[in-house]
Amino acid sequence: MSEKENLKLQVNKILDERATEIIDIAKRIAANPEPGYKEYKTAKLVQEEFDKLQLPHKDNLAITGVKSWLDTGSLGPTLAIIGELDSMVVPAHQNADPITGAAHACGHHCQIAMMLGVAASMKLSGVLDKLSGRLVFFAVPAEELIEVEFRNGLRSQGKLEFIGGKPELVKLGEFDDVEIAMMTHTTSTPEDRLLAVSGTNNGLVVKQIRYVGLGAHAGGSPHMGINALNAATLGLQSINALRETFQGEDTVRVHPIITKGGDAVSAVPSDVRLETFVRASNVDAILDWDKKVDRALRAGAMAVGAKVKISTIPGYLPLNMDQTMMSHWQNNAETLVGKESVSFTGHRTGSTDMGDISQIIPSIHPYAGGVTGIGHGADYIVQDYMKAVINPAKAMAMTVIDLLSDGASGAKAVISKSKIPHTKESYLKLMRSFSRDEEFEN
Ligand SMILES: [Zn+2]
Ligand SMILES: [Zn+2]
Repeated sequence: MSEKENLKLQVNKILDERATEIIDIAKRIAANPEPGYKEYKTAKLVQEEFDKLQLPHKDNLAITGVKSWLDTGSLGPTLAIIGELDSMVVPAHQNADPITGAAHACGHHCQIAMMLGVAASMKLSGVLDKLSGRLVFFAVPAEELIEVEFRNGLRSQGKLEFIGGKPELVKLGEFDDVEIAMMTHTTSTPEDRLLAVSGTNNGLVVKQIRYVGLGAHAGGSPHMGINALNAATLGLQSINALRETFQGEDTVRVHPIITKGGDAVSAVPSDVRLETFVRASNVDAILDWDKKVDRALRAGAMAVGAKVKISTIPGYLPLNMDQTMMSHWQNNAETLVGKESVSFTGHRTGSTDMGDISQIIPSIHPYAGGVTGIGHGADYIVQDYMKAVINPAKAMAMTVIDLLSDGASGAKAVISKSKIPHTKESYLKLMRSFSRDEEFEN
């Protein structure tokens, strides 16, 4: 057996021995769900687990993030294992917090447990003196793009610039020392099988829209008013009129909701509010549809003589999967669960801020099964924690061995072959270019 295979057995042995303890971490987090930038209990739990492993950590990064590190003692690249702290808000979920409605309906509790599992396996297995480089274990806040108003409030108070945790951490310089990054997300799609090699994801921008009309008696004098709800519905119809021009390869998704439809049924609505994401598979298409959606929204205002205020907020960039690293992960996944239990997800039309990391650092974002139900739904339940936490922890730990053993030759190859679209500076410039407030009145 090669030394590399032997090291993989050693890290997996720790993950088997500590499986119950690692799974218990996931269960404790699931019992205390907290949405983005409010993950205080979850962050404290992570800090305590790092303390138990006698790993140093920096706390309160982008409000709740916790970052730890482990040096092998030999020079080499820094590789980060990431887990997301935040939950969704799904009040109907069986494990929802009765007060906030928060629930782990996206499996992030499993990510934190697997990240801590990898940390334990590296620290306790005795493999470090055979590795080169440095490991970062990073619990990051706010991946789910929800509670936009709350986060926008944090933006206006100067506590945040970006509403997603990873873009904010990039801005703060907390990824400056990271040269390679990986995390594993859970999946409930049966076709994904036990472990799934992933492809790409859509990126997005967020829009908050407010139509301003003029209130008047809805029965007695509607001709004196300007109906903001009519303006909004025309704006929505204008967006719908553009759908036939979406190009298949761009996988554009525009899905607005009305968050306020009026104040009183007896008054002509004068304040109507919408929110939408504009998603696409590539930055050019996001930029294009960002503008076309604004144009359609203006059309609604123009038709009835209302005013429209459009606030565009940078969201996430598309995911750019590192093929070299992914092939290591795939080999390890196939060794662990058998080739027939490993699938390929292709392109996904949802979005993640791991996309942002992948635009500046070679990254992978594969998937692990063991879950049933609908993602973000009330029935998203982890059925088998060995599959949802221990399998992916092993696949990542084995990939760390591939990358950092043998003088970190694997990691160096990943870095030299990677196709990274952005530097941190060009990434931040692009993100900031999305941010704008527009007011349109005919
Ligand atoms: Zn999610
Ligand atoms: Zn998620």
